[in-house]
Amino acid sequence: MDDRSHFAAGELVSVLTAQPLDRFLDYQAPEGGVFLGAYVQVPLGPRQVLGVVWGPGKGDFDYAKVRPVTRVLDVAPMRAELRSFLERAGEYTLTPLTAMLRLATRAPGLGEAPSMRKIYRLGNAEPERMTDARRRVLEVLSEMGGLSLTQGELADAAGVTPSVIKGLAKMGAVREEEAPRDTAFPRLDPDYGGKQLAEDQAAAAQSLREGVASGRYGTVLLKGVTGSGKTEVYLEAVAECLAQGRQALVLLPEIALTSEFLTRVEARFGAKPAEWHSGVTVTERRRVWKQVAQGGAQLVVGARSALFLPFRDLGLTVVDEEHDTSYKQDEGVLYNARDMAVLRASICAGRVVLASATPSLESWANADAGKYQRLDLVSRFGASVMPEMRSLDMRAETLPSNRWVSPSLQSEVLARIERGEQAMLFLNRRGYAPVTICRACGHQIGCPHCDARMVEHRFLQRLVCHQCGETVPKPEVCPSCEAEDKLAAVGPGVERLAEEAAELFPQARLAVLSSDLFGSARALKEEIEKIASGGADIVIGTQLVAKGHNFPLLTLVGVIDADLGLQGSDLRAAERTFQLMRQVAGRAGRAEKPGVALLQTYQPEHPVIRAILSGDEEGFWQAEAEERRAAGMPPYGRLAGVILSSTEAQEVFDLGNAMARQDAPLRRIGAQVYGPAPAPIAKVRGRHRVRLLVKAPKGAALQPALADWAAQFRLRGELRMAIDIDPQNFF
Ligand code: ADP
Ligand code: ZN
Repeated sequence: MDDRSHFAAGELVSVLTAQPLDRFLDYQAPEGGVFLGAYVQVPLGPRQVLGVVWGPGKGDFDYAKVRPVTRVLDVAPMRAELRSFLERAGEYTLTPLTAMLRLATRAPGLGEAPSMRKIYRLGNAEPERMTDARRRVLEVLSEMGGLSLTQGELADAAGVTPSVIKGLAKMGAVREEEAPRDTAFPRLDPDYGGKQLAEDQAAAAQSLREGVASGRYGTVLLKGVTGSGKTEVYLEAVAECLAQGRQALVLLPEIALTSEFLTRVEARFGAKPAEWHSGVTVTERRRVWKQVAQGGAQLVVGARSALFLPFRDLGLTVVDEEHDTSYKQDEGVLYNARDMAVLRASICAGRVVLASATPSLESWANADAGKYQRLDLVSRFGASVMPEMRSLDMRAETLPSNRWVSPSLQSEVLARIERGEQAMLFLNRRGYAPVTICRACGHQIGCPHCDARMVEHRFLQRLVCHQCGETVPKPEVCPSCEAEDKLAAVGPGVERLAEEAAELFPQARLAVLSSDLFGSARALKEEIEKIASGGADIVIGTQLVAKGHNFPLLTLVGVIDADLGLQGSDLRAAERTFQLMRQVAGRAGRAEKPGVALLQTYQPEHPVIRAILSGDEEGFWQAEAEERRAAGMPPYGRLAGVILSSTEAQEVFDLGNAMARQDAPLRRIGAQVYGPAPAPIAKVRGRHRVRLLVKAPKGAALQPALADWAAQFRLRGELRMAIDIDPQNFF
């Protein structure tokens, strides 16, 4: 392979575009030549598209017909490290490189010149007439030294309207200039505001710092109960990384957690980092993308896709709550950000910190096998201790139908309210009721497009399909037998639980936290802050509340249905229930007052429930690991899911059967095919779904075998195939 880094005008270069083509395209380097990795605009048919120079051209096409690159974009070329990461991540997930490039260029308008905005600094002239407002503006600017402010920043700082600034500019007392928008982020100071660390924190922080300073690849599992101070500890690793002049990335599972985290970063480093997630504006995304490439952003806090940003020198990636299932993208490119973070770090000599109170079995096993280093924080920071956990045996409680809060739980909640403390009722089900049934004919209202029941959302006054999002007004009559007033809600959702709580505790202030009840991340953040400062007596929530929020007054968590996650055939049902229950319980007793977690269950002797209650985490993981090892399941074996879908049911089954028969490429590596079977959700958005499961021994070269196997079949018409390596969800 030719390893030149520059191509002179007229030379052939091979360009990768983000278009759905399965090959590279040759172009002539433009006037002035082009660097390897340069982002370019190239003609493709009648269009102009974005591409990246990937190497020398192949020259297998008549030179005279090869068109030149239209222009080279004014952004830093893609580094060899990122190109290699995209190639290897693409190979791992069986994703075409073009789709990987799309992931890496998710910032619109990269090719455009940076847009301009007006900025202001102190001018030379004196204002004709001095007013209070004018004086304040001039004071703010002189305090800034020679630095400039935008109109909004200046107006805010001085407490004046923009017209005051405009007036001063006209007189020359303030200088108005044009400056590009895509400016660098404020510098973070690694020595700004570190906390005094407790002994075990300090030891863990020191170990992480040494790892970062080594400048070599390495992954660390940082395990510690919620509230043990993991965040404080990994911020020390970030500090070391910044001190080394390298960049750091912190991935969070939930946008709602970002603002609390930004505040902590500001307290630690004196300024806010760059943010990258779906709530960030288009202009700001472009700024982040460019500054990450130029080194003008030292720390990025974001969602999983931030992993594909063009870092100049990524020294550290933190995956907070590493067990969280939202790190697995399950549409489009099917990748797990946790695993991809490790891959990228191994290419760019970076460190990875996987932080969790309840690690995934994969990470636990990697640490157990010595592939990852493991650091434990065993106690909670300061006075707070892990809550006491008990089960409430529902077989011994008397509950009227359509009630879910047992008398025992009710009296515990009351006791908290009387003491001025907070209680939480946890139910991992959005909406009002999961099923709507007709009491006349027994019909259950289902989604017209999916094999799923419609969930009543009383707050929206609609029925909603949680698979495809279809919503309909709640019908007055049964759609099947047309009986009137016979439709009944069956089972609880958080909205219904809130209704019950309002009746049981009429004097209490309730707050309901469910992702669908908030129009924006800001509204949700405000509600969380309100609760944290004591603005509610009872918090009712879905799994949204399990993640990382600090509620200092909370001393009781009541889990309404601890058995919920134990049903179903999911490989990870036990692991998920264990994680979720421990996480939720971790919400209680975070400040000085001890907490209690009560789990309502009909099967208190179930091994998973017993493990949750005993808190014997290592025991739980050992047992779970043994079971998986015996069954050859991940992480001791490998799985790939194949989902076939089509509008025609027969067509998908025919293909599924053919694939199961023609399995030679898989048998060669010792893999087996299971299925085809209707997927657990057999129809989504009008498409019938069939799944096959491929199980292979741990060391097998699974991806090439899957590629050979899939290549035997042509997908005609409506047929689609998605291959999911290391599937997390079995839907
Ligand atoms: P985790 O990330 O493990 O849940 P956090 O880092 O959020 O834990 O710490 C829990 C709480 O304790 C936070 O409010 C944090 O500010 C505080 N805390 C942790 N370590 C220290 C420390 N060394 N000094 C002061 N406060 C700390
Ligand atoms: Zn649907």
